Amino acid sequence: MPEIILKNVTKTFDHTNAVDHLNLVIKDRDFITLLGPSGCGKTTTLRMIAGLETPTSGEIIIDGHSVFSSEKGFVLPPQKRNVGFLFQNYALWPHMTVLQNITFGLENLNWEKEKIRERSSKLMKMLQIEEYKDRYPAELSGGQQQRVAIARTLATGPRILLMDEPLSNLDAKLRMEMRSELKRLHMETDSTFVYVTHDQLEAMTLATRISLMKKGKLQQFDAPLTVYNCPSNAFTADFIGNPSINLIPVKVESRQEQEVLLHMGSASIHFHALDSMEAEKGESLLLGIRPENIEISDEGTIEAKVYSALPSGMETVVKLDVLGLILTAVVFGDREFHINDKVKIRFRSRKNHLFRHDEEGRRIASGELD
Ligand code: ATP
Repeated sequence: MPEIILKNVTKTFDHTNAVDHLNLVIKDRDFITLLGPSGCGKTTTLRMIAGLETPTSGEIIIDGHSVFSSEKGFVLPPQKRNVGFLFQNYALWPHMTVLQNITFGLENLNWEKEKIRERSSKLMKMLQIEEYKDRYPAELSGGQQQRVAIARTLATGPRILLMDEPLSNLDAKLRMEMRSELKRLHMETDSTFVYVTHDQLEAMTLATRISLMKKGKLQQFDAPLTVYNCPSNAFTADFIGNPSINLIPVKVESRQEQEVLLHMGSASIHFHALDSMEAEKGESLLLGIRPENIEISDEGTIEAKVYSALPSGMETVVKLDVLGLILTAVVFGDREFHINDKVKIRFRSRKNHLFRHDEEGRRIASGELD
């Protein structure tokens, strides 16, 4: 059962905590994405699980065995951790052909010739590299080399696969295809995948659970739709979702049990909390409204002006000048908008959020607007 447990893991470089007291339980057969802005500690976390970086303190347990413990002064070397790695700087063996790169590990494990042939052709087919099987790495493009590296890592069928932005050199179309292949592969291999990315869409579409980090600290560790629908703080709400959530500074004018009147832009608006709420009169908060919750409709009651419109075929991202604020809405279908068009909007009665307007930005309520 390849479960990975990180207990209070910290890595300090030059007096700064690249990873700060990280606690994670990555369950057997999870597909975890480590997500967050540049420098938040994703790669360092992955390298510590792999054994390529030694934590400053804490404990890491893989498959029931401690592989690092600062308390016991114990470090298990990478080659004994039984994990496959796929890093951005995949080093293919330059003197071996594509086929030899893929089969080398299997020959070392004394696999039967027929099994090696079957496995390598399946992988080459899947990754669309059959036609290059007799070429050397120097004769391939970056994207082709990356696919060979993926095939090579997957060949031995590791139960834990650690990947650091493995699709970054691929073009957009191939990247999409590879994402679905990785997802299928995850299901077919029954392995635990840990995948570093800074691309929130990639993290959302691939993961069973997203571990979202900021400055070395874990912000949220949940299923993608939970992070989207119930963000723990304003940072996670803003990081997940494209286009980004509207985060609007508001002030609580009055409160009655589950309802608050919020001063927003040049108007006031009611917010009904679905659950408990901590807001107090006079408090400054951030109101989070997802772009798809702003509906442009003749039945709307709030006047707005189109600031910009970015059509992409299936949907149009419309920036609106409303109540003295610029808000982003998404409109599905092929409706056309022009700059300075006058429109009416209303908020859909779906989940919106209130966050504290401070460094932590904790979510204090979710609810509906009218
Ligand atoms: P990116 O998305 O840019 O790759 P990341 O989230 O993977 O970023 P890390 O590479 O884990 O971030 O780095 C976390 C922090 O630790 C950064 O501030 C980085 O500068 C620092 N860091 C990483 N490796 C070292 C090192 N060997 N020496 C000193 N500082 C380091």
